[in-house]
Amino acid sequence: MTTETRADPDCLFCRIAAGTIPSDIVHQDDLIVAFRDIAPRAPTHILLIPRRHIPSAAELTEADGPLLGRLFGVAADLARSAGIAHDGYRLVSNVGRWGGQTVDHLHVHLMGGRAFDWPPG
Ligand code: AMP
Repeated sequence: MTTETRADPDCLFCRIAAGTIPSDIVHQDDLIVAFRDIAPRAPTHILLIPRRHIPSAAELTEADGPLLGRLFGVAADLARSAGIAHDGYRLVSNVGRWGGQTVDHLHVHLMGGRAFDWPPG
């Protein structure tokens, strides 16, 4: 079963995707919007979101395969164009309170330009 497909007017990232809240958009297509994180934790810190309101990765289904393929493909393209692909980068999607999720619209952080610790804190 697919999750909610309509934009949620109360959702910050739905509003960024719709252009009603300004952001520094670096990519957009029919499925995905990518924009710079407002509080970057790395020299490159971009958020990739589906236009569709999906609350988190926990709500994804097999039917979302094409969406995820697009999202990760765009992330790789952005990493290459940002010049961080050679040294490597971090892709992460936080889920729920203990996972560190603060915005309830699925997003993947693309972070690079420095080394990251593992495991994360
Ligand atoms: P998370 O904590 O994993 O849910 O990530 C949410 C991210 O959204 C954080 O890194 C915030 O800095 C970022 N964020 C919050 N509001 C905005 C905004 N208006 N524009 C861009 N990034 C934002």
